[in-house]
Amino acid sequence: MIVTRRIDGKARAERLLADVAAAAATLKSESAIAPGLCAVLIGNDPASQVYVGNKGKAAIAAGIQSFQNSLPETTSEAELLALIGKLNADDRVDGILVQLPLPEHIDPQRVIDAIDPAKDVDGFHVENVGHLWSGGRARALVPCTPYGCLLLLRDALPVLAGAEAIVLGRSNIVGKPMAALLLAENCTVTVAHSRSRDLPAILRRADILVAAVGRAEFVRGEWIKPGAVVIDVGINRVAAPSGKTKLVGDVAFAGAQGIAGAITPVPGGVGPMTIACLLRNTLIAACRRRGRAEPKL
Ligand code: NAP
Repeated sequence: MIVTRRIDGKARAERLLADVAAAAATLKSESAIAPGLCAVLIGNDPASQVYVGNKGKAAIAAGIQSFQNSLPETTSEAELLALIGKLNADDRVDGILVQLPLPEHIDPQRVIDAIDPAKDVDGFHVENVGHLWSGGRARALVPCTPYGCLLLLRDALPVLAGAEAIVLGRSNIVGKPMAALLLAENCTVTVAHSRSRDLPAILRRADILVAAVGRAEFVRGEWIKPGAVVIDVGINRVAAPSGKTKLVGDVAFAGAQGIAGAITPVPGGVGPMTIACLLRNTLIAACRRRGRAEPKL
């Protein structure tokens, strides 16, 4: 019988945040540079407001200046692009984060394209995507959620090279950059999606399974290879027996017990890593923009 280990993303994120804070303090004392992160929030989506608020608090705690621009739902694409232009030119701002999703009348790709790649702390700009896929990870700003997953995997497994890695989901935010990162670690990578045939058979091959599908408890325990390391990216709100709601992942956590070697919980797994990696990226962007050596975090 396998004893499934719980991967504590909250504790790992706290360690990363402490390292970011220490590096930010050194940067400030040695060169009077205070990295700055600016969040742009359009509309009144409560979940987005909570995310942006949490990111702001975490930034301040790590010694990173936090700015926020909250604009009404009716903001036009031209107005948003004009704001991005201003933030690109603002030297206090090292990282620009446009909270997604955007209202339907705004094309997210046009907005991402407008962000200075050197300040693209989400790592979504085509220049950063290109660096990531062409082996120039050292020059890229890497998307936060998959990078956080990679840090958890590096802790969970002594060797990633040669592992059979299955990424379930192919979004630009999670699945595709995750595949690029695992390929760069010399894993054998398969990306599965809604058109893949026989998902259980594909998933059962995985030494490493990263689930980013956005469907509550979609991956069943019997689809997991015994001993596999499972990273559950999903965040799904479902009804709880209490009549309230609760968060669950894309993997049936209870079903994975006794089969997976290790698994991230939801909440407390990947989520905290995403914010910590955003602040890491902001610090790295601040160092690069000013020609300073960047900390290895
Ligand atoms: P997304 O853009 O909706 O992409 C979902 C992917 O899952 C798509 O590639 C889709 O395939 C695939 N998929 C959907 N239904 C499927 C099915 N029945 N069988 C196989 N594949 C299926 O979602 P995302 O932005 O990547 O996010 C995924 C999940 O992660 C969500 O729950 C989101 O809330 C969560 N998330 C968490 C964090 C964090 O910090 N923890 C960050 C980002 C996202 P097709 O491409 O074929 O449609």
